[in-house]
Amino acid sequence: MIYDIIYWPDPFLRIKANDVDLDNETLPLAEIIANMFETMKARGGMGLAATQCGLNMRLLVIDTVQIGGKTKQAFINPVIKETTEKTILTEEGCLSFPGVFADVKRYHGVVVESKTLTGETEEVILNGIDAVCFQHELDHLNGVVFFDYLKPAKRQMVEQKVRKNVKKMERRSKKR
Ligand code: ZN
Repeated sequence: MIYDIIYWPDPFLRIKANDVDLDNETLPLAEIIANMFETMKARGGMGLAATQCGLNMRLLVIDTVQIGGKTKQAFINPVIKETTEKTILTEEGCLSFPGVFADVKRYHGVVVESKTLTGETEEVILNGIDAVCFQHELDHLNGVVFFDYLKPAKRQMVEQKVRKNVKKMERRSKKR
């Protein structure tokens, strides 16, 4: 199933998501993860947070393999344990901000602790584009979006453009 993407400025993008309850046996977590991968692929993204699908849970998926990265994985209740001092500036886009891109500075490397579907704790080391993508998606789970890092003038520009693009998309989908 492909989820509808939540677009800026929907206030849902500002919520701080709750932990996934891994003891809740009625939660179809494997299915949700599969849907998120499907949604990400259909929309041409390399990362997707549950928040962007209207789900209040600390869950994100990443697939950077298609663009030269090394990670195709779901992260449940992820936490950054360590970061490198080195940073990296990358042009980022976001499925919730259609058609806009901006340079954002992130840690070059992060050590992540995350849960598996069976509730075990695993540690993952991410670098370069994998780390960038992860930090972008983790921000979503905290109600932070990439343009929060931009200077006010640039942010205003991006905001106007994204509002226009979202309206255009809505008009197009109404015609169908
Ligand atoms: Zn995003």
